[in-house]
Amino acid sequence: MRARVPYSASRAKFHPLWTCHARQPHTRYATAAPLRPEIYDVVCVGGGPAGLTLLTAIRSTPATSKLKLALIESQDLTPARTWKLPSDQYANRASSITPKSEAFLSQIGVWPLIDPTRLQPYHHMRVWDGLDSSSQISFSSPSSPIATMAENSNLQQALLQRLEELAPFSTFDSTKVASIEDGPSPSSEDSLDLSSYPSLTLSSGEKILARLLVGADGLNSPVRTYAGIPTRGWDYERHGVVATVKYLERNNHHGDNKSVIAYQRFLPSGPIALLAMPGNYATLVWTTTPSKAAKLKTLAQEDLVALVNAAFRLDNVDLEYMSRLDGGHTEELNWRSRVAGVEEDEARIPRWVDSVQQGSVASFPLRYRQTDTYVSSRIALVGDAAHTVHPLAGQGLNMGLADVQSLVNTIEYTVKHGGDIGDEMYLDRYNREMWMQNNRMLGVTDKLHKLYGIGWGPVVGIRSLGLKMVDQLGPVKGWLMKQAGGIGT
Ligand SMILES: Cc1cc2nc3c(=O)[nH]c(=O)nc-3n(C[C@H](O)[C@H](O)[C@H](O)COP(=O)(O)OP(=O)(O)OC[C@H]3O[C@@H](n4cnc5c(N)ncnc54)[C@H](O)[C@@H]3O)c2cc1C
Repeated sequence: MRARVPYSASRAKFHPLWTCHARQPHTRYATAAPLRPEIYDVVCVGGGPAGLTLLTAIRSTPATSKLKLALIESQDLTPARTWKLPSDQYANRASSITPKSEAFLSQIGVWPLIDPTRLQPYHHMRVWDGLDSSSQISFSSPSSPIATMAENSNLQQALLQRLEELAPFSTFDSTKVASIEDGPSPSSEDSLDLSSYPSLTLSSGEKILARLLVGADGLNSPVRTYAGIPTRGWDYERHGVVATVKYLERNNHHGDNKSVIAYQRFLPSGPIALLAMPGNYATLVWTTTPSKAAKLKTLAQEDLVALVNAAFRLDNVDLEYMSRLDGGHTEELNWRSRVAGVEEDEARIPRWVDSVQQGSVASFPLRYRQTDTYVSSRIALVGDAAHTVHPLAGQGLNMGLADVQSLVNTIEYTVKHGGDIGDEMYLDRYNREMWMQNNRMLGVTDKLHKLYGIGWGPVVGIRSLGLKMVDQLGPVKGWLMKQAGGIGT
């Protein structure tokens, strides 16, 4: 069994990255039997997409549907339950959901509850090199979408609605995990040995015990800290700037879904992507240095709009110059595009952005993390608690959903075989299935980030050649598209 480290939220602030700590002595804890804390089969810490999907999937799988479940989430879930935006506004956090994730969400009854008027499938994807726009790769899937854009809040609301249909389960929201330690050993008052069960003290003061404790608690996972599972990786020194934008109205555009294209251009400081939302809207994800991200957030709306349009059209030297300006971006773009002559083919370049939704510009630091293992005795980690990936391939949330699917299959297998769902021997099935698969995706996205971060020298020529070759090679391209769609192995 892996050495556990009692987790305490008050001590936690001294270890912001939750990396490996030395084994600490177990804290003995004894209580009279009638006062023994409530025991749950599965306690999930974290009510983000991974945690909510886990509980929904356990409840909707016949063999596991009777397990006693608890959710602990530090935020108030009421705004997520009642979330509603007008049809001309979109949340700035949206994710591309792969067909594999969509199939899983359908299987557990969540996808039909997502508001379909706020989903946008896309059938084409165009990715090109910011230093050589002839070097590009494009994917098309006329019969079925490559992926579907969904606001995270739309997904979260559907998950909560489905969970309520499948109730009962215990929800502790607006509640933090204050500490986690080993459960009580047998005593004169209580002969039951619960010392291998994680014992959680909640911010409300309540204590609960878990047969299986799942950490779906994001990057700084308290569950991971308690389990003593090391996480390795680095910060990219890049921020992802997100915003909801509106395109200029176009005559004769009838929003034919089959023609929708996702665009991504690799600039030396990071990729910029425009991912269509319904109607004339799109989600912007612009990866750039922290200082440039800070500047983008302070620009006047029309300057930001001009810079986004420039980022898809101008060459890198012009763009770098414009990025340093404090204002007047529109005039500068108009002048430079007149002089240089910019492309207007929608098959290659997104339409002109007209406006940015008020209050939608935000940024997130980007990181690479992979834990040494996703399981230990009575512990499993899923989603960002287990791994954090660069968003350039839009895979983080999808990887978390795949973790959940695999873990629930493992729990189902254990229950059907009369095993203990917290037994590491059973949990290892999940680890063996997902760790390597996720490691490959983490590696590919990390290499892409590094390859395209090089702004000069022979590498630029070689990568252009490589991209052009891949674009010509049907089987390699097919494999890449399967990975992007989450249907590869
Ligand atoms: C700019 C950007 C764009 C992205 N685009 C995509 C995309 O297109 N496709 C995609 O698949 N992925 C995308 N991702 C990644 C995706 O957003 C994340 O991988 C996903 O949200 C992680 O979900 P999660 O449930 O694992 O963790 P989180 O969403 O981080 O949820 C963790 C939850 O745990 C709770 N919590 C934490 N600590 C405690 C505690 N002590 N007690 C109680 N609760 C606690 C938190 O409140 C939170 O609700 C993107 C990420 C970024 C930054």
